[in-house]
Amino acid sequence: MNSNGTDRSWPGVIRRYAKYLPVTESTRVVTLMEGNTPLIPVPGFVKAIGGNFDLRLKYEAMNPTCSFKDRGMTMAITTAVARGAKTVVCASTGNTSASAAAYSARAGLRCVVLLPEGKIAHGKLSQALLYGATTVSVRGNFDDALRIVRELGETGLVEVVNSINPVRIEGQKTAAFEICDTLGDAPDFHFLPVGNAGNITAYWRGFREYQAEGIIRRLPRMMGWQAAGADPIVQGHPIQHPETVATAIQIGNPASWGGAVEAARDSGGLIGSVSDEEILFAYKLLARTEGIMVEPACAAPLAGLIRCVRAGEIPEGSVISATMTGHGLKDPDTAIRVSGFQPLVVAATREAVLAVMGV
Ligand SMILES: *Cc1c(COP(=O)(O)O)cnc(C)c1O
Repeated sequence: MNSNGTDRSWPGVIRRYAKYLPVTESTRVVTLMEGNTPLIPVPGFVKAIGGNFDLRLKYEAMNPTCSFKDRGMTMAITTAVARGAKTVVCASTGNTSASAAAYSARAGLRCVVLLPEGKIAHGKLSQALLYGATTVSVRGNFDDALRIVRELGETGLVEVVNSINPVRIEGQKTAAFEICDTLGDAPDFHFLPVGNAGNITAYWRGFREYQAEGIIRRLPRMMGWQAAGADPIVQGHPIQHPETVATAIQIGNPASWGGAVEAARDSGGLIGSVSDEEILFAYKLLARTEGIMVEPACAAPLAGLIRCVRAGEIPEGSVISATMTGHGLKDPDTAIRVSGFQPLVVAATREAVLAVMGV
């Protein structure tokens, strides 16, 4: 460990947690040293929402492509290489494509990404393009793109690296391990956004495996949050035209629907939904109270937490973790639009700057 508490010899999630993953000694691991992300206490945010508990944010923005998708992608691309695949394909609301493109470049594989036209935050699009993926804009939504990817997978010509590929979930469960390794036990609650529902499925699996190993003594209540315009699990049926500012979770028919329902049910948690207004409120509040910039989807569980606090559902002194799935810089357009500010343009003099400083 160095003085920042980060381990410079960190080998990436596969080597660190090999015992729990479908790999062997001889596996050729494709890694960008993902994982080992910080678990940041946010007392200022907790105070601002009137809570009295210990909230820690698992800041997955610190992964190599700035989202949690890298944990699953190191497994998916490692497995694709082991199977002798030449081409990988995925549908994506943005972050899966960024991650698939990066790990494919690293492994020397061809990567094809299918994106819903006009629904991808600019940071994510810039990544897929720069990493050199064949980037296909589909005139439809994410669910249409995923349907086509499933069909492509059936041809046997390509390796699908969406979370319908079970090794993605295996890689992603390592985030739950890291939280427990840091806290010394599981938290009381774990909050996270739910889109295609792979991640909540993965976390629940990770917590249960650690409990089975005797590493943790309790299990957290799993609190998953969808956006109100894209909340099929809460509604109990697929949504034809999902709409939300949180594009990462703009999904109408989640692939891991059953996994999400099971995690919520078996843990005594829930799947809820919050409006775009609540999401943007929490998004701004986190940035202003803690200096932490996340993408809008991450604010869904924070908005959910605010609801729970108001309803008196969070006991004092609880230990709560929440996954901040992706970096705020992924979606600079929303940040600029929502900030409420614009740069103040002045003459290049001290007086002009003093005049706008209001001091
Ligand atoms: C993929 C993603 C989600 C949703 O995760 P699922 O596993 O699809 O539920 C949430 N936030 C961000 C930033 C993502 O990239």
